Amino acid sequence: MKILMKSALKDKEFSARKALDENNIEVQLFEGFYGEEISLDEYLDTIINSGLNISVIHTPLVEGEAVEIDRFYEKRIKNVFYKTCELSNMLGTKLKKNILVIVHCSMSFKEDIKNPNKIKLIDDTLLYALNKYSNISIAIENVTPIVTNRTGFYGRGGFLNDSCLYVSYFINKYGFKDRIGTVLDTCHALTTIKLLQYCKIDVTLEQYFDWNKQNVKLIHLANIGDNGYGKDNHGIGFIEGDDLVVLNDIMKLYFKYNYSCPITIEVIEKEYINPLNYLKTKENLLEILE
Ligand SMILES: [Zn+2]
Repeated sequence: MKILMKSALKDKEFSARKALDENNIEVQLFEGFYGEEISLDEYLDTIINSGLNISVIHTPLVEGEAVEIDRFYEKRIKNVFYKTCELSNMLGTKLKKNILVIVHCSMSFKEDIKNPNKIKLIDDTLLYALNKYSNISIAIENVTPIVTNRTGFYGRGGFLNDSCLYVSYFINKYGFKDRIGTVLDTCHALTTIKLLQYCKIDVTLEQYFDWNKQNVKLIHLANIGDNGYGKDNHGIGFIEGDDLVVLNDIMKLYFKYNYSCPITIEVIEKEYINPLNYLKTKENLLEILE
């Protein structure tokens, strides 16, 4: 099974990965990608010159401006989604491979499917990208139920199996089975499970693995501290003690449901030059896989 490390699209970060001999990379785009300061050709050069094996590109994560499929009605969001697809396709064409583009889901599928205009906008946007950019695939990721941004906090959908339901619907209607799928984010799942416990609603990690098994393309692997909210509780590593019990459970489910997709270890670091959380998590993961 392939294990990937995350990196920003920056020379300095790429060199740090290279120095650690970590070659399999998922690129995380940030706010700058919304702007025009750096051209797509320059971004592509930075990727190619790194010599790293970059096979996944995550749409930009910006507070309050994450790229979610049901926010395509916002021009800025839709344009940056297409821009991510275009860069990924440039890379895929150059290296003759398929690049996975990751986008978030915050829809409530069972409600949204009743709104033909909303579903059509999402369908059309994804179809346009799949038809125009032949060297990409698209994967839709589960999110957390409550988000905070500059203006406060709000609730959203997409934290259960909405991504899976949407992808099944899309494949049934349009095909593209090998080019559209889901990302199962364990940190977002664990945060949701914890939050729903407060509401006496029982959802398990096993359900997430069951929901995603049909069309999963990638796992985002990270743990939570406390309830998963707050800077130091989200996207933490699997380091010791109870962390390892959870990691073991995750990998048991991975094999029980016959997963074979890559795993990106998606953990926060104090400093990217010395990514202790990633390295320790990887060590623990490899030990389980032995
Ligand atoms: Zn994720």
